[in-house]
Amino acid sequence: MSATRELFDSLPDAVLQLDGDHRIVAANATASRLTGHSLDHLLGEDCRSLLGPRSRDGHRVWADGWHPSTRLRSVRSMPEQDITIRTASGQDVKTFVAGSYERDDSGQLTGVVLVLREAGRRAHQAASGIEIVSTVSHELRSPLTSVKGYTSLLLNRWGRLRDDQKRMMLEQVNHDADRVTRLVTELLDISRLETGRLMLRPQLVDLPRLAAMVVEKVKLEYPDLEAELSFEDNFPKVYADPDKVEQVLTNLVENACKYASRKGLAVIGETGPGDVVSVTVSDQGEGIPAADLNKVFTKFYRRSEGRPTGSGLGLWISRGLVEAHNGRLVAESNPGQGTSFRFTLPLIEPEELHRP
Ligand code: ATP
Ligand code: MG
Repeated sequence: MSATRELFDSLPDAVLQLDGDHRIVAANATASRLTGHSLDHLLGEDCRSLLGPRSRDGHRVWADGWHPSTRLRSVRSMPEQDITIRTASGQDVKTFVAGSYERDDSGQLTGVVLVLREAGRRAHQAASGIEIVSTVSHELRSPLTSVKGYTSLLLNRWGRLRDDQKRMMLEQVNHDADRVTRLVTELLDISRLETGRLMLRPQLVDLPRLAAMVVEKVKLEYPDLEAELSFEDNFPKVYADPDKVEQVLTNLVENACKYASRKGLAVIGETGPGDVVSVTVSDQGEGIPAADLNKVFTKFYRRSEGRPTGSGLGLWISRGLVEAHNGRLVAESNPGQGTSFRFTLPLIEPEELHRP
């Protein structure tokens, strides 16, 4: 074996060289280990059909050729992307993929060298600054791309678009602008939670009304949502920051829609035991295995790769917001039957509020 080959095989990252038609023309030993395919099996195969590469949002990548930017000769490399591949045993593996393009003298793309790093190898480490920036930029980019796209369309074709088309586009822009605003609010909350500078603006909050409003709002995005609200009669008002409580409830109801089931959702308000009220959002989804149940509250943790967008921040922030109110947020799950997220808020007697 040549020294170069040995070096190639001893690289800790998987390397795949593809020709212009996405066929694998060279691979190192790590690539075999990562994909579970022998070298013989890898060579000559179209990497798209063999490995089924998908992006974070579950879309197949490279389905119609390489990225359009590759037509520019000056584009030499592919920025790192999160790509999930399928191994020989049918398992999904999340990887970080970077690549450099190979071109002939005329600048035509002749192939790509890809480097794949298994994401799990870094997962135990806390998210580094750069990863936070990349997750967040990714989350910001998709709504902004659509805002930009629709506004340009509207501006350029205003006279030729039908009213219903314009309405659809404006609704989308409105929705995406909300998403961006929410993400930015969340980011500000993170830094405030971490530095203990979160400011609450407490008022007397009518939780049954707030919960009904949250469900209506989430319904705009998931029209097939069927949620049953049940709050004890004469439910006491709580002294809390309504925006923050709304944020927590929205995340819980939205998570149930995204990761569980839109049918059979229940939002239940109870009082006690003790001087607290609690709100439980329970779904009838697949549930979360016991081993993962506490992890869902960690920053950037996401179980459902490929499911709709998300940054893995929602529950971490929600717990922080509830704790800032001296409440608790906990989860319980019966795999196969569903998950319940329950948060408590302390009850403060109105008289107490006015005491000096
Ligand atoms: P974000 O809320 O920041 O947009 P996210 O929804 O992915 O992103 P979290 O709300 O923190 O982040 O949820 C973390 C993970 O917990 C989710 O990615 C999902 O895998 C899992 N999860 C949350 N709620 C449920 C649920 N009701 N049923 C099953 N899994 C859930
Ligand atoms: Mg969420």
